[in-house]
Amino acid sequence: MRWTNSYIPTLREDPAEAELISHKLLMRGGYIRKVTAGVYNYLPLMQRVLLKITRIVREEMDKAGALEITMPVLHPAELWQASGRWDVVGKEQMRFKDRHGRDLCLGGTHEEVITDLVKGELKSYRQFPKNLYQIQVKFRDEIRPRFGLIRGREFIMKDAYSFDVDEDGLDKSYNKMVDAYFKVFDRCGFNVRKVEGDTGAMGGTGAHEFMVIVDTQGGEGVIYYCDKCDYAATDERAEFYESSNDTKIEPLKEKELVHTPNAKTIAEVTAFLNTPSKKLIKTLLYLVDGEPVAALIRGDRMINEIKLKNYLKANELELADADTIMRLTGAEVGFTGPCGLKNIRLVVDTEIYGMRNFITGANKTNYHFINVNHPRDFTFEDIIDIKMAEEGERCPRCKQGILKSDRGIEVGNTFKLGTKYSQAIGAKFIDKDGKEKPIVMGSYGIGITRTAQAAVERFHDKNGIIWPKPIAPYGIHIIYTNSSDKNQVETAFDIYNELKEKGIEVLIDDRDERAGVKFKDADLIGIPLRIVVGERGLKDKTAEIKIRKSGENIKIPLAEIVPNALKIYEEIC
Ligand SMILES: [Zn+2]
Repeated sequence: MRWTNSYIPTLREDPAEAELISHKLLMRGGYIRKVTAGVYNYLPLMQRVLLKITRIVREEMDKAGALEITMPVLHPAELWQASGRWDVVGKEQMRFKDRHGRDLCLGGTHEEVITDLVKGELKSYRQFPKNLYQIQVKFRDEIRPRFGLIRGREFIMKDAYSFDVDEDGLDKSYNKMVDAYFKVFDRCGFNVRKVEGDTGAMGGTGAHEFMVIVDTQGGEGVIYYCDKCDYAATDERAEFYESSNDTKIEPLKEKELVHTPNAKTIAEVTAFLNTPSKKLIKTLLYLVDGEPVAALIRGDRMINEIKLKNYLKANELELADADTIMRLTGAEVGFTGPCGLKNIRLVVDTEIYGMRNFITGANKTNYHFINVNHPRDFTFEDIIDIKMAEEGERCPRCKQGILKSDRGIEVGNTFKLGTKYSQAIGAKFIDKDGKEKPIVMGSYGIGITRTAQAAVERFHDKNGIIWPKPIAPYGIHIIYTNSSDKNQVETAFDIYNELKEKGIEVLIDDRDERAGVKFKDADLIGIPLRIVVGERGLKDKTAEIKIRKSGENIKIPLAEIVPNALKIYEEIC
């Protein structure tokens, strides 16, 4: 491909709205352009990357026995109402009415449509197992679209759905998909870490996420993993072994009301009372689907709202505002505590169970209680882990290892759905024993556009992208430094034609631009191997090969440039 025949509008400056380096580089490299918040055009270079990822995904899905189909983007509300998710998914679903006033939505996932498809079609145990997949555009009305393709409102996904007669069958189908996922990402050129994930609105009995680990702040998610065993989970789900429950129990002291003027935050209270934050209990007041709920965690911990939301089976959960807190507790923000709270459900973190003589807000402005104890001073029924995991805590599985954390980008997920959708939508089959049973399902996603950007977040330097070879838009990038030098141009095109004949995807920068501009753009767009035909080289009958990944420059006699370039491309890039 000649650069002048392609469409590669590179930019010198970082676009203002881009936060992640990968987002900046894809914009500057002429790969993507924003249409509106969270919606992008994929330009020719990007399209080539996406097609390569898609091809790898398709080949591995086919090898795993999955069958490709295409389902509609437009879904009727009735299907989502039948599964019960119309009310659960909420505002992230793009909804509207057609000209007849019927409710419709744009699909963010296709469990409902596919369950309705197989309902009545897969009706005998003899027809199982089956796995159907598609590669298609999806929509999610993110409250704050950002990070380019990482958190867009419109994106391309591969979604597969498995159908089995029982849980054993599901386990087999699930493991097959997990194996296929490792192959997909390995072929794309990077390692992924499989971690336990949250089932969220998907429902079901188990889930994993596949994360690309990135060393920048570009990871949109945090994962925790054990340094001794194979425990790994997303921060939404990660737990730790609560060793504080091993410590000896203090004798109970008398509860006391103490004046703590203007001490509202944990830091202010601990400084005022000269006590570690571990002795405090934070009481966070939420409105959960409109009802007040107080969540209690240790003062040095962070609340995990996903765990809280899942436990309460809530659709909407938000922190109460100052007015609501005043109305419900009679005190300003910062003085809420469990003692004497009326008509408010208390959800207590497991770590609090073993605590004695702790400090809480007194529900009275500028006052706290010290030496609070349960069940003497307050009681509760809901005790559950609702805190964030932390680095340095002990592994919940082996109890020996220490939790470490990494930042990553989720590129794939797998869910054991069980019979949630088949039961709701009535997809049943007749089993061997002649009994009618709901189909046992799994669902499996890979973000195609996400994977492309995750690769950039993982592989880049200060000058630009460093594509892994299998998904690079072109394999070799040829540059000549002076377009008015006929000899240079001819030599470069000879190399170009010869490489093309060998089946290599080649881009030649035939613009009438300064060498510096061409070099900068070449680093930016990140093709694995570059061949430079320049004035000085031609004098001693050489050209230069540059390996993008290592930055290494190698001078090679012109007569041997093609075989050498091919060898380096195959073996090193
Ligand atoms: Zn462990």
